[in-house]
Amino acid sequence: MEKIRVVVSGSCGRMGQEVVDMVNNNSHFELVAMVDSKYSHQNSDRGIPEFPDCLSCFRTINADVLVDFTAPGSGMQNAIYALENKVRPVVGTTGFSDEEINQLSELAAREKVGCIIAPNFAIGAVLMMQFSKIAAKYYDDVEIIEMHHDQKLDAPSGTASKTAELISEERKFKQQGHPDEQEIIVGSRGADFEGMRIHSVRLPGLVAHQQVLFGGTGELLSIKHDSFHRNSFMTGVKLSIETVMKLEHLVYGLENIVN
Ligand code: NAD
Repeated sequence: MEKIRVVVSGSCGRMGQEVVDMVNNNSHFELVAMVDSKYSHQNSDRGIPEFPDCLSCFRTINADVLVDFTAPGSGMQNAIYALENKVRPVVGTTGFSDEEINQLSELAAREKVGCIIAPNFAIGAVLMMQFSKIAAKYYDDVEIIEMHHDQKLDAPSGTASKTAELISEERKFKQQGHPDEQEIIVGSRGADFEGMRIHSVRLPGLVAHQQVLFGGTGELLSIKHDSFHRNSFMTGVKLSIETVMKLEHLVYGLENIVN
């Protein structure tokens, strides 16, 4: 079996380093290049070629898959470069708008190149989102509390946004809380997504955690997931690298490729 040739962008970052280790420890994958804006110039002295940007990488390197964990904005541009160069993107970078996902979806279909974007690659987080979608059939009142390390750039998290979207597919619209409620300090009730609230906690020491709270008459249902280590995301990244090789369109969300 031929090895899948993988480029990792954001390779100097927390997630990127985890992906580099996972790819290096998998006999079916070959790490063919690393991209990070921290590399000042192209360099092959340390074995695996390093590039400061994806475009110069794809002009030089033959690759099958790009795994991107960079920053909101960069993930979009890198995925476009990859699709235009027939390299299949597996994107973990968060902060994509619906319009950007639609734009990438059209580009992937036009180029007939597979693409997977997932706001959360942890299997437990995918289940947490699916369980929340089921619960939303029975409860109209829900609040999402997501907690991440304090270096995270976007809020709410991609996982919280995705959870809210899945819930809204089942939940009848309801503006939650008291109709006369007032925020004494602006933002104290959290973000408003179709009448439900999302709260973002940022603290050192955290990795990625989410709790979905459903309130009913005299009861509370809590659905909770914790990623204590970034290796929790690697099962999903590995599965996505293998799966994207067989796709000719974009898939958004790990739940759509997990059996
Ligand atoms: P980080 O800041 O540690 O690393 C990001 C790296 O990307 C940095 O080294 C930076 O120099 C590099 N970079 C930025 N722009 C670039 C560009 N245009 N080209 C190449 N490299 C570029 O961040 P992190 O904690 O590793 O997180 C990265 C992204 O992954 C964030 O968007 C985060 O929300 C997301 N994330 C997703 C999941 C998931 O399961 N989908 C899990 C954790 C984090």
